[in-house]
Amino acid sequence: MSNYYLPKGMRPSTLEERRIFYTEEFNINGVREWLKDWSGKVVYAVIIGRHTGIYPPEYAEDKSTTILIENYRDLEDVRQWILEFLPESVYYDRNIYDEHGNILGQELAIDLDPENLTCPIHGSLEDKMRRHQGLSFCEIELNMVKDETIRLYDELSSMFSNIKIVYSGRGFHIHVFDKDVFGWSKEKRLKFAKEMKKKGFKIDEWVTSGSMRLIRLPHSLHGMVSRIVTPLDRRSLEKFNPIEDEICIPRFLKRSPT
Ligand SMILES: [Zn+2]
Repeated sequence: MSNYYLPKGMRPSTLEERRIFYTEEFNINGVREWLKDWSGKVVYAVIIGRHTGIYPPEYAEDKSTTILIENYRDLEDVRQWILEFLPESVYYDRNIYDEHGNILGQELAIDLDPENLTCPIHGSLEDKMRRHQGLSFCEIELNMVKDETIRLYDELSSMFSNIKIVYSGRGFHIHVFDKDVFGWSKEKRLKFAKEMKKKGFKIDEWVTSGSMRLIRLPHSLHGMVSRIVTPLDRRSLEKFNPIEDEICIPRFLKRSPT
């Protein structure tokens, strides 16, 4: 991680911190609420240590693998799987499946990441990639991506009726829960992504088009920056500052500030 720079106070979580978070703090009711209208069974997924290089030794071989969690009875079971793997990241699958595993639809989501924006200090994503700092970001970029999220949310409000914003740990996600959008074809999603990019939004086409179907699970821990993935409404987003906002800071950081 030596090549990474992160905003003040953000750092990778240790295995012990991940364990404490998912034992004591993980808001299972929040997850239930988030997915309450989901049809069919939700597929969860974890990545143990791809970016942080922090993983339980017995999972060294699978540290970068996307591991699906499909066999569980309830969310308490899912928590137990998470405690087994102690992953840096937890996701859910945006696809809707029938009982035979056929895809019936997909939730539309839009990913806005700070590193995609051109920073007056750190330059463009290309500049950062050249320095092998593609996942790094700074406070300026965080503020820029927040403003971008507010602009996009307002733009989308005229198109959709059920939109939610999530602080993802690094940037923001916008989720569209409108019923008819779940049935959009891949082509329609791609067209939509391209339209948004044409309007100047620096969004991740891969996520919006559905090629990347996993999205970070709200209320989980982002283990690269030690922040809680937090749903926010439009009003609270304006004042939100992930560097110091209590709502997204896990207790283990409050106990032992870095
Ligand atoms: Zn920067």
